Amino acid sequence: MGHMTICGAGIFGLSIAWEALRRGTSVTVIDPNGVGAGASGGVVGALQPHTPEPWNDKKQFQFDSLAMAPTFWDAVEATSGISSGYAQAGRLQPLPTERAVDLARVRQPAAAARWADQGDWEIIERPEGGWCPPSATGLYVRDTLSAILNPRRACESLAAAIRARGGRIVASGRLEGPVVWATGWQGLLDLSRQVGKPVGNGVKGQAALLQHNAAGQPQIYAEGLHIIPHIDGTVAIGSTSERAFDDPTTTDAQLDELIGKAGDLVPVLHGARVLHRWAGVRPRAQSRAPLLGPWPDRPGHFIANGGFKIGFGMAPGCAEVLCDLILEDKDRIPGDFHTRELMG
Ligand SMILES: Cc1cc2nc3c(=O)[nH]c(=O)nc-3n(C[C@H](O)[C@H](O)[C@H](O)COP(=O)(O)OP(=O)(O)OC[C@H]3O[C@@H](n4cnc5c(N)ncnc54)[C@H](O)[C@@H]3O)c2cc1C
Repeated sequence: MGHMTICGAGIFGLSIAWEALRRGTSVTVIDPNGVGAGASGGVVGALQPHTPEPWNDKKQFQFDSLAMAPTFWDAVEATSGISSGYAQAGRLQPLPTERAVDLARVRQPAAAARWADQGDWEIIERPEGGWCPPSATGLYVRDTLSAILNPRRACESLAAAIRARGGRIVASGRLEGPVVWATGWQGLLDLSRQVGKPVGNGVKGQAALLQHNAAGQPQIYAEGLHIIPHIDGTVAIGSTSERAFDDPTTTDAQLDELIGKAGDLVPVLHGARVLHRWAGVRPRAQSRAPLLGPWPDRPGHFIANGGFKIGFGMAPGCAEVLCDLILEDKDRIPGDFHTRELMG
């Protein structure tokens, strides 16, 4: 039984640790800030597919990873006894223009072909009830592939499952065996310094958690806003996207604006009590895709980074291909994601 060290206890580091344990490798996760201290400790948790047309390798990888999620989170929850908040309750998106309707009509058969029995994509009229934003055409796309989880709880659940299987999660320690650097946006800045060119940075996001029970309803994506009905009877609203920021963790009037907009779109949310205001910094690689593979010129060291806006959806797939590479010497990392791109 080999040993692996993982630096970073966000969703990427924890998922890799879990996958390595599943394959019989012992693990130590090191994070001076604790579990879910970075971008992964948030409140939103949308697991959404990209549009099914046009298709590319990144979308295929994301689709495969989303398809792995039910089994992945079932196993984590069964081991930890802690809910991750995972639910495949679908998504509702208004179609605000005739052009959007035409595009949706093209995407419908594409989804049927690409998604097969994992989920449907259909054009519907306004569903009954108050859980629905307006649509100028009166039409919506409803898909059943989209899912949700509670990011902070999902990290707690993974951490407890890792410990239950004998893995260690510590604030500091020795680097033994292969070392995976899953160190979020700070890691992308470190790597940029090491390779002497920018490979990525951080993009701040603010989000809020509201007191409103819409459990079981589909998540809503409208006018760039995610509205996520968590299974615990809260609703998350997200997110801002800020390339320039002074403080990674503060929230401000931009978040008030999002909360107001959520109430305008879905009036049942108007005036809902704000339980939590949260901000974090997403790790964005230059390619906007995940960045996975050997650390250039540092034998035995590996990178797992760049989850950007979809890190939770991508994590099971990223963990699988990185463990394939490290533990079985099988390189299945898609070309666009590969750290060898950094050497060019
Ligand atoms: C507002 C907001 C909303 C979002 N919404 C969604 C969403 O709906 N769906 C989705 O899929 N994704 C979403 N994301 C993106 C998602 O949160 C990120 O892609 C994901 O959390 C990145 O995980 P990570 O493990 O790579 O990084 P992080 O969670 O940032 O973890 C990195 C960890 O590394 C640690 N670290 C740093 N340096 C070192 C070091 N030298 N040694 C050891 N440890 C170190 C840090 O303490 C940190 O805990 C959102 C992000 C934000 C900010």
